[in-house]
Order: sequence, then structure tokens, then C-alpha cells
Amino acid sequence: MSTANLIICEFCDSVYRRAPLQGRVVACCSRCGARLYRNSRSDLDVMLALTLAALAVFLIANAYPLMLLGVSGKSSEATLWQMIVDTYDSNVSPIAPVAAITVFFFPLLQICLYAYVLVPLRRGRVPVAFIGVMHALRQMQPWTMVEVFVLGMLVAVVKLGGMATATPETGMWAFAVLTFLLTRLNSRDLGELWECAERIVSAAGGDALRRRPLAVDAGEAPANAAAGGVGQHSAFRQERPAQVRAGDLNLLACHACGLVLHGARKSSPCFCPRCDQSLHRRKPDSHARTWAFLIAAAILYIPANVLTVMHTATLFGADDNTILSGVVELWNGGAWDLAVIVFTASIAVPLIKMACLLLLLLSSRRGSARWRRERTRIYRMVELIGRWSMLDVFVVALLLSLVRFGIVAEVRAGPGIVAFCAVVILTMLASMSFDPRLIWDVRSSAGQRQSAASGTGA
Ligand SMILES: [Zn+2]
Ligand SMILES: [Zn+2]
Repeated sequence: MSTANLIICEFCDSVYRRAPLQGRVVACCSRCGARLYRNSRSDLDVMLALTLAALAVFLIANAYPLMLLGVSGKSSEATLWQMIVDTYDSNVSPIAPVAAITVFFFPLLQICLYAYVLVPLRRGRVPVAFIGVMHALRQMQPWTMVEVFVLGMLVAVVKLGGMATATPETGMWAFAVLTFLLTRLNSRDLGELWECAERIVSAAGGDALRRRPLAVDAGEAPANAAAGGVGQHSAFRQERPAQVRAGDLNLLACHACGLVLHGARKSSPCFCPRCDQSLHRRKPDSHARTWAFLIAAAILYIPANVLTVMHTATLFGADDNTILSGVVELWNGGAWDLAVIVFTASIAVPLIKMACLLLLLLSSRRGSARWRRERTRIYRMVELIGRWSMLDVFVVALLLSLVRFGIVAEVRAGPGIVAFCAVVILTMLASMSFDPRLIWDVRSSAGQRQSAASGTGA
């Protein structure tokens, strides 16, 4: 049996054999519950349609103002780029490049790269530099934050309601549509594109995707590799847990393209024969790097919550807001729903995220075998929600760009928002550095566990 139809769960290292799926069914790991793959082989047309629609909507979203603000006969409006430039010119210029990258450059680049890959693939060709483009697409995904920006605009409209008349403009509606399109596009598994390219190359009888000679033995996998079942979204069966893990069979999956390989040499560095990425059984130095990012985030969380994030001046007086006092203001103003959203995204999420990562680090270091499925779920939740904390950063950038009416009304950002932005980025890096497979490594002997925890492997 070859490794061609095997798939390894990236969260618990269980090995499965791919089974054909019908309709919109998703195959899930029966051990940890994570999604393995879905049935969407013939989706290139849909992906291309989404990409082209996203490109058109992106251009509209950036060409038109986001919202119109009126106060005492004066009006003000801002496009996304005006917001970025105004933020750069303010006293919180470090958050301008963050906003530019997460809301403008990465979404645009992502759309262009998808189009660059999908058009030739659809015509049965593999584009030049396919491997590099696919790596870029994978790395950009977590840092594209259009949906968070849209929620930020919504919060800004409500916040401005107290001092002026805020009207959503074409740019804001276009960003809302872009959120839908990009979410649909990013929900697709990039592994499908790798497989599509492989099929095209093998149909042509070539070996174009392989830049390196095989550094691993891509021979036969043991027959028991397929012991794990394929759990399905609609028919998930916990009573049939997978018993076989990749490490037991000397298998490993490339973290970049998902290719399953057998017999990686332990003595020399290995590279994926398909995508050229270095291969590791576990993320290198996972614990040490997660600790470093987590400690840095915890230190910066203090100034982020103590220092002023926004200074508001109107004819009726001036006000310095921290993140918490901004939530109280929203609540007192009657916008309790948005107060709850901002409190959750800006105060609770970073704190919960840091607490969860601490729990995961300590429990996997101790080698705890309890609640492994639940701890994996916690990790997946941490990965999913972390980006939403960027909400407050976008709200402050929008307000300081829009509210520029001299003595009538003005908003200035405070240093707290820079610290807060750093906390969000650091907690995202911390969760990316943690290897969830360490949660499941306790089954091995103490010596192996130690080796896995220190991140050594391939
Ligand atoms: Zn799993
Ligand atoms: Zn690879």
C-alpha cells in the first residue's frame, strides 16, 4: 500500500486512508474532531468565480469612501488608504503598516495569487513558480483580516453616533461583500490545489513539481496504516477512535502541502519532495517559542489596558479612554450589544487566549493524558478567535481618520493601542508556534515524550 491515499491529522497525528465523499460531507478526525478534508475536487470554477468577484469588489471597496461623518454643518469622509495614511501621520504610526498589510496588501495579493494559480490550473497547466505562490497563499491566510475590519467599521459607526451623524458609504458595503467572498475562498483547502497540480503533472508524464530529489523513502507504508477510520461530519462516531499515529508508522506529513511521506531519515535534514519545505515531525522548539511569545504578550497586556488608547475632544469636553472605559461608554450609551462585542474581542479574548495557551503548555509539558480531545478543541478555538482582537485597533484607526473637525470634535490615539496591537500579534504568533500534536504525545514513553516536547524529530 502506498502513502498516496493517506492523510495525517495535523492536530493529533492520526493516520487515515482517504475515502471518497459524497456531496458536501466533510471528513473529520475521529480522535480529535478536527476537519481532515472535504469533497470539493471539481471546485476550480467556483474558486475562480469567487476570486474574480473578490477582485472587482476589492477595487470598489478601495475606490469609494467607507463612511460619511457630519457634525455642526461640517462633513468628513475617508477611504481605506486615507485611514492608513492618517494613522501613519499620527502618534501611533506603528499600527498603520499593520492595517495596510492585514486589510489592503494581503487581501489584494491573495486575490491576485489565487487568480494566477487558478486560471492555468483550470486550463490544465501548472503556472510558473506554483510552489512559491502556494507557500505565500498559505502564510497569508491567518493575517488577512477584512472581516475584522468590517466589524470595526460597524463599531465605529455606533461610537460616532454620540458626537456626529455617521452614514455608511459604498466602501463599507463593498468591504462587507468582500468579507463574504474571501471567507468562502479561504474556506477551501489549499491541498486540493496541490493535488490538482500533481494530477496535471502526472497526466503529462512529467515531474515538474519536484524540485529536489527525494530526501525520504517514498516506498510502501505498512499495511496497518489504514487502521484509522474516516469520521464524517454528519456521521461522527466517537466509539471508533483511530489507534494508529504517524510516528508509530514512521510516516510524516508536510505541514505546507499535506503530502504524506514514509521513512524520513532522522540524521539529516529532510525536505518535502513536492513543495521543498523542510520537514519536521513536530514544530521545532514549539514549547520555547510559544513561551517566549506568550510572556511577551502577557507583559504588553498591562500597558495595553492601563494606557490611554483614545483621546476624544468635543465642544463639551475632553475624554481619555482606555479599552475598558471605551466599553463602559458604549454600554452607558445604550449600545450594550456592541459593548459586549468589544469587551469580548478586546479584553476577554486576549486574556482567554493567553490562559488557554498557558494551560496547553503546562499540561503538555507535564505529559497529562487527561482531556486531550477537549484540549485540542481549546487549541483550535484559540487559533480561530485570536484575530478578532484586532477589532479595537481598526476602530481607533477609523476614528482618528474620520473625526478631524478642529475644536468642534477631534480624536487622537494613545500609546495603549500600539501595545494592544502588539499583544494581538504576539498571541497569534504564540498559538501558531504551539504544536497541538504534543497534547497527544503522552502515549509514548517518557523518553520519546521528552524528545517530542523539545521539538526534535525529523
Ligand atoms: Zn485528529
Ligand atoms: Zn510539502
